[in-house]
Amino acid sequence: MADVIIKECREYDTEVIKAQINAGMELLGGWGRFVAPGMKVLLKVNLIGPKKPDSAAVTHAGFVRALVQILKNLGCEVWLGDSSGGAIAGIAPTAQSFQVSGLAKVAEEEGAVIKNFDREGAVGVKSESGYVEGMYLAKPMFEADFVINVPKLKTHSATLFTGAVKNLFGCIPGLKKAGYHRLAPDPRDLGTVLYDIHRAVKAGLHIMDGIVAMQGEGPTAGQVYPAGKILISTDPLALDTVAAAMLGMDIAGIPMLLTVKERGLGTADMDKIRIAGDYASPPVLQGFKLPKRYRRTAMGNPAMVVKVIDFLRTRPFINTKLCKNCNMCVESCPVEAIDQETKIINYKVCIECMCCHELCLHKAVGLRQDNRLAAFLMNLYNKVTAARAARG
Ligand code: SF4
Ligand code: SF4
Repeated sequence: MADVIIKECREYDTEVIKAQINAGMELLGGWGRFVAPGMKVLLKVNLIGPKKPDSAAVTHAGFVRALVQILKNLGCEVWLGDSSGGAIAGIAPTAQSFQVSGLAKVAEEEGAVIKNFDREGAVGVKSESGYVEGMYLAKPMFEADFVINVPKLKTHSATLFTGAVKNLFGCIPGLKKAGYHRLAPDPRDLGTVLYDIHRAVKAGLHIMDGIVAMQGEGPTAGQVYPAGKILISTDPLALDTVAAAMLGMDIAGIPMLLTVKERGLGTADMDKIRIAGDYASPPVLQGFKLPKRYRRTAMGNPAMVVKVIDFLRTRPFINTKLCKNCNMCVESCPVEAIDQETKIINYKVCIECMCCHELCLHKAVGLRQDNRLAAFLMNLYNKVTAARAARG
C-alpha cells in the first residue's frame, strides 16, 4: 500500500502551511523517519522559469519558506535547487528565476542555500531502462543527505499533467534538457527518461504545493485555480495518481505516467493507495479546466490514447502581435524549428515538445488544432462543460 496524505490549505500563510505539513507528516510517521539534525536537505522546487509566486507556474515562495523553517527548526541545513527550462544566448535563466520567484529572498531571509543546478556541476549516471546510454544530472541531488521533491500542481499542454514525477526533469542541468526532449519527443518515451531520473536520484519524500494550481494550458500559460490542497507521499506516482484524480484525470489518459507505471516506479492503482489527512478519497476540483489534448474518452485504453491524441493534435504557433522578439523560443527549440526573423515554425521539423509554448513569458506562443472537426468538437465540449459548471 502507498500512503498519500491530503491536507486542506487555502492560503500561503507560513504558520498555516507549517501546521498542515507537520500534521500530514505525523500521519507518515513523523519527520524523524526522514531527517535528523545536521543533515543537508535539498528541496527540489519547480522553477520552470522567471515567474512570480502568484503565477501558479512555480512552487510558491511562501510554501518553500514554510518548509525551510520546519527543516531549520529540526536542525537541518537546507538547500533550494532547480534548473529552469529555456535558454537565451546559451544561458539558462535559472538565476533570474530564483530572483523573480522570490526564492532568492526566502533563502536570504531564512538562511537556506541556493543551488543553481546550471552552475553546480553534473554527475554521470547509468540509465536503468537502457533508453539512453547515460545521463548527467545535477550534482547537488547526490551531495545532499536527503532530497524532498516539492512540485507544483499543474496541467501541461504536452504531457497533460505535471506533478511529482515530471518535476525531476529539472535535475537535468541547463541546455541538456532540450537534448532529452529531442531524444524523447513522445510523452511515453519522456516517461522512460523520468523513470531513469527517479531511479538515479532517489528523492525520499514528495510534498506538492497544490494551494493554488494551474489549469488549462499549463505549465506556464494556463490560469490560476485556487485548489487549496497540500499532498504528501513517499511515492511520486501514487501522489500524481491522486492529484490527477482531483483534477478529473485518470493516468490511463496520461501517457507519460502510464510508462512510469508500466516500468514499476510506484503505485498507480487506487485500490493500493491509502488516502489520509483531511480526505479519504480524492476531492474533485469542480470546474477545473483540462488541457486541450486530454479527453476522458481515452481512459483505460492506451491504444485509444494515441488515436485520440492524433485526432486532437495541437501545434504551436507564434502570434507576432504579442511577440517581443526575445528569441527565448528560437534558442530553446531542440530542433531549431523556429525562424528567428519571421517566427514561423517549420512543422516538418517540429517535434511538438511544446518548449516554446512553455517558455514564452509573453503568452505569444499559442496552440492551434490541426483537425477542424476536432477544433469544433473541442469548442462545443468546452462550452457545455463551462455551462454545466456555471449551473453548479
Ligand atoms: S514568441 Fe515569445 S519566446 Fe518567442 S521570441 Fe516571441 S516573445 Fe520571445
Ligand atoms: S517549435 Fe516549439 S514545439 Fe516545435 S520543436 Fe520547437 S520548441 Fe518544440
